[in-house]
Formats: sequence, C-alpha cells, structure tokens
Amino acid sequence: MNTKEVIAQHDKYVMCTYTRIPTVIVKGKGLKVWDLDGNEYLDFFPGWAVTGLGHCHPKVISAVRNHLKKIIHVSNNYYNVLQAKLAQKIIENSFEGKVFFCNSGAEANEGAIKLARAYGNARGGRNEIITMENSFHGRTLATITATAQPKYQKGFEPLPLGFKYVAFNDLKAIENAITDKTIAIMLEPIQGEGGINVAGESYIKSLRELCDKKDLVLIFDEVQTGVGRTGKMFCFEHYGITPDVMTLAKALGGGLPIGAMVAGKKFADILKPGMHASTFGGSPIACSAALAVFEAIQKEKLLSNTVKMGGYLSEKLDELKKKKPIMKEIRGKGLMLGIELTIPGKEIVEKCFKERLLINCTHDKVLRIMPGMIVTKKQIDKAVEILDKVMT
Ligand SMILES: *Cc1c(COP(=O)(O)O)cnc(C)c1O
Repeated sequence: MNTKEVIAQHDKYVMCTYTRIPTVIVKGKGLKVWDLDGNEYLDFFPGWAVTGLGHCHPKVISAVRNHLKKIIHVSNNYYNVLQAKLAQKIIENSFEGKVFFCNSGAEANEGAIKLARAYGNARGGRNEIITMENSFHGRTLATITATAQPKYQKGFEPLPLGFKYVAFNDLKAIENAITDKTIAIMLEPIQGEGGINVAGESYIKSLRELCDKKDLVLIFDEVQTGVGRTGKMFCFEHYGITPDVMTLAKALGGGLPIGAMVAGKKFADILKPGMHASTFGGSPIACSAALAVFEAIQKEKLLSNTVKMGGYLSEKLDELKKKKPIMKEIRGKGLMLGIELTIPGKEIVEKCFKERLLINCTHDKVLRIMPGMIVTKKQIDKAVEILDKVMT
C-alpha cells in the first residue's frame, strides 16, 4: 500500500480523534524516522516525549526480545519478577515509597486522584483537589476535569465533582482556594501542553510547606517531565523537595506503554487489595523495557548529555532569537524547551516538516522542542539551521 491508500484506509476505519500530519511513519532509529516514501526526518518531538532514548534503542529491543520468549503477560493475582525490580529501581531513583503500575499517563493520574480521595475521605470527607490553569493531566473523565482547560472538557459534561482551579505559579491563589475540604494539590512542575511553563523554585518550596502544614497530598504529574527529560531523573529534583505522589508514563517504557503512580512512605499503603487495579498494569514486557530505559540512562550517561545538549540547544536558540523578532521567549529545563512566538506556530511546524524536521506547537504560540536524550551537537545545529530558515 502507498501513503495515499494507508491514509484512506485509516480515515475510513480509525476514529478521527487526531489531527494527523499526512505522512505514514514506518521506521525509526535514534533521532531519525522514515516515512513510507523513504523520506528521512530528524525527530525533535519524539512521540510526545515517549521516545526519550530515541527510537528503537538497542537495550530496549534486546530486553523486550529476551522476555518475550519467557512470558508475555502475568496476571496481577500472581507475583511478577520484573514489576518488583522496576518498582525498586523507580523508588531508588526517586523517594522512599511504593509504586502502582498501569498503562498510561491518564491512568496514573486517575490512580493518584483515587489515592488522594481515599486518604482524605477517611479524614472527615476531605476530597477536593486543586489543580492549575493550563494544566494537562489526560483524557479520561476525571483527568479532563483535573485538566483546567475548558477546551478539553466541553461537551463531556457532567464532569466529576471535587476539583478547583487556580493560576499556576501563584501561591496566594492557592492559599485562598484551600478550604477544610481540600485534600490535594496536583500540578506539573513544568506544564507541557500548557506551553512549557516552568514552576518557580520558591513557589514549589512554599507548596511543599503548605501541604505539610495542612496535611495535603502534593501530587506531581511527571508524565512528561519524568525519566530524564529535564536533565534530572525526575523534575522534582530541581526543586530540592519531594512530592508525596508522582505520576509517570511517556518516556518510562522506551516506547512501550507503561504508566506508574509512585507514592511516598506516608501514602504507600492507602490503596488496599481490591481498591484499585489495572489488568495490563506492569506487564513483564513493559517492565523489561522500562528497566532497560533506566539502564541506558545510567550506563550511557544520558542525564549529563541532556544537561549539556539542553544547554547547547538553548544557547543556540538564544542566538537565533536575536535575529528573529517573532521569537518572544525561550523556556524550559534540560531537553524540554518551548519557544514562545508572537504569532501562531502552526505554519512554522508545517514548514519544518517540509524541511524534514519534526517539532510541535502547543498552546497556539509555543513551539515545543524535545529531542531524545541521545541528541548530538550536530543534530542540534541542523535543527536550528532549519528553524532559522523557516522563520523568515
Ligand atoms: C501526556 C500527558 C498525560 C496523559 O498521558 P496519556 O498517556 O496520554 O494518558 C498526563 N499528564 C501529562 C503532564 C502529560 O504530558
């Protein structure tokens, strides 16, 4: 089948819930992907941050291949070697506590919401959760409600109760919103979908103090920022605090679907047998891939590469900004960078695509640039050269 035929078949049989770029991607290696017509692209937005190690990382492939031969699925009414190993790996790299495994970011956040409610309802019916304007937490009913952006909610009413929204990075707003019904504060340390908005350091520290003082659960949605993206294994490490609950997905499985909800010691045993579950959660194959991701990050020193290349990329973008009045601001940490423009970014993304560079635009005016952690200077130079060319 050729590109046109695949697209026709797709449009006929697959629900059109996405605005797709009209190309069929069939192969990937590192930061490169190829379409059905053999065109090669430089991927600076790999699968919405899923492919953090680049496409088809050899360690992920061999781990998955080895385990496929043993067993593909182990039901969660038995013990599972790789789940235990991966949970230990996540805990050793984050904070003392326990992990619940699922398959996606939304599902990890649902788990966090349920955990917070279970904790709070047992404390005099405290079940209200405060989330941030311009956040993004997923597409299930509870997570679109946590996502304080009307465009994701419209048409799906009635929405679950118990969510309250405040402005991001505004401590006063949160202080004013807390009542004796409040049980949790949930936020992304860097808002991804919302336009690469970075939480301030003193803001996060104050949130931590506030949660300690008022017995609130501090939930970090690290679905996009987690697993190396910002130059630390987890973004909370930049702030010198630990959250009570952290959710992960995207890059965790090196391309395979896996999500995790990590709860600190105080919250690790709130969810008891029968209270929460996920049939596929923590499948041996997904766990083997995630273990390979941690191994690759450590053995290949990818955190330090992320810091170095993130610095290099933002320097290059700063230089470019001097020549391009449409570039208003560059924000982010590590290899999670956003360029706020004075104009809508859609056309620039399309032009980059024609030049065989894949990037993304979010929140209308913010170009999102998140190459895999294995990116090289040469690839960054190439990407910046293309951006320079298309922004004229
Ligand atoms: C992508 C994303 C989600 C949703 O993850 P899914 O795997 O699509 O359900 C949740 N939170 C953040 C911050 C995300 O970037």
